[in-house]
Amino acid sequence: QPVIVAIDGPSGTGKSSTSKAVAAQLGLSYLDTGAQYRAITWWMVTNGIDTEDPSAIAAVAGKPEIVSGTDPAHPTITVDGVDVSGPIRTPEITAKVSAVSAVPEVRARITELQRSLAASAKNGIVVEGRDIGTTVLPDADVKIFLTASPEARAARRSGELKGADVEATREALIKRDAADSSRKTSPLAKAEDAIEVDTTDLTLAQVVECVITLIEE
Ligand code: C5P
Repeated sequence: QPVIVAIDGPSGTGKSSTSKAVAAQLGLSYLDTGAQYRAITWWMVTNGIDTEDPSAIAAVAGKPEIVSGTDPAHPTITVDGVDVSGPIRTPEITAKVSAVSAVPEVRARITELQRSLAASAKNGIVVEGRDIGTTVLPDADVKIFLTASPEARAARRSGELKGADVEATREALIKRDAADSSRKTSPLAKAEDAIEVDTTDLTLAQVVECVITLIEE
């Protein structure tokens, strides 16, 4: 029986690193759903769609073909055949992704992709995001909700961005989490049956061990 693991939480809590490591260690597939929302945002920007105009976004939400590779050792993402792994991580896309992913037609489209990838994963899959345990895969076998202090989250993100200003990163993070938590359609939220893990004072190895223990229980 394939195991379905949902890992949700705000940015900078270690979701990606944890999810990839857990999937690799257990031989499961891995899906970064944030990358899918970033990819559709990248397509909107590249095609000159106003990302502040929900009806313009809704009208073309079905156009880009987004394909995710689910090997945790080498996750990939393409839009209409173009590898966008790099371009989806720019500050511009990061600043625009919340508005694009709040559009219901975008969420319906991406949610469908997520469910079909989860259903076709042979051994099972670790899916990381914001609404996986609540909306995308409410019947997941294990649901984890990662948290961390705003300081720890900003420090981790600035580290990843190689020396970006911690204070500016902190403000951008808080703004994005507020937007993600307050949207009407499937906001960032902890499922009632999710287990919360505060990663503030834990190393990555400790978080991974904790999650694997929860899966194997
Ligand atoms: O995880 P990451 O920071 O790459 O996610 C980028 C953005 O994608 C989030 O800030 C959020 O706006 C959106 N997202 C979402 N639902 C998910 C995953 C990501 O709305 N399941």
